[in-house]
Order: sequence, then C-alpha cells, then structure tokens
Amino acid sequence: MSANHARRHRSGHAEVAYLGERPSRRLTRLLEIRDCLAARATEYAAHDIADSDELLRCVADVQALIKAEAPAVHAQRWATWARHDVELAHTAHERHPACGLCAAAGRTIEVAA
Ligand SMILES: [Zn+2]
Repeated sequence: MSANHARRHRSGHAEVAYLGERPSRRLTRLLEIRDCLAARATEYAAHDIADSDELLRCVADVQALIKAEAPAVHAQRWATWARHDVELAHTAHERHPACGLCAAAGRTIEVAA
C-alpha cells in the first residue's frame, strides 16, 4: 500500500487509516466481492468450468485481506461463508435454485423450446 492511500493513525498505533475510502466502506466492498467471487467459484466448480480453481484462489486472497484488516469480522463470518458455499454446491446434473449457471441454462432451454 502506498503512502498516498494510507497513513498512521493519529494515536501512533500501527493501524492504517484510509484516506480515500473509509474502512467500513472498504470492508463492506471486500465482503461483497468475497461473496460474489465465492458464488461464482462454487457455480463454476459445480458445472466443471476450468476457471473455478483460479476463482477459489481469489476468494482466499480476499478473505486474507478481510482477516488482515478486520480479524473480528473475519472470525464472525467464516463459518457462515463456509456454510453458504456448501449450500450452493451441486453437480452439473442437478438444478440449484440459487445457481446463476443453472438459471441461465433454464432460460436457454425455454428460449429454444
Ligand atoms: Zn448450477
């Protein structure tokens, strides 16, 4: 992180204060990105799409950022993330109501019929 984006907290502690974006907004965005990437990774894995491993690495990277910047939030959400990711897991031969790829396949079938 460059000096243009961070500075030491006024108290002298090593906490980073973001100049361009408040931490709560940044954290909110990181959480949104994590959830979006995790959903896509699970969907890609369910439908055997090759990029699912890369998406899972991105999810791990974002989660590591969240853990570094907000360890209490990470600890609070970790179990929920795992449970939600498992709930979305399915195979390419099953329809999952929350899967965007299953929904897209259903729309394609409806259009073709
Ligand atoms: Zn699906």
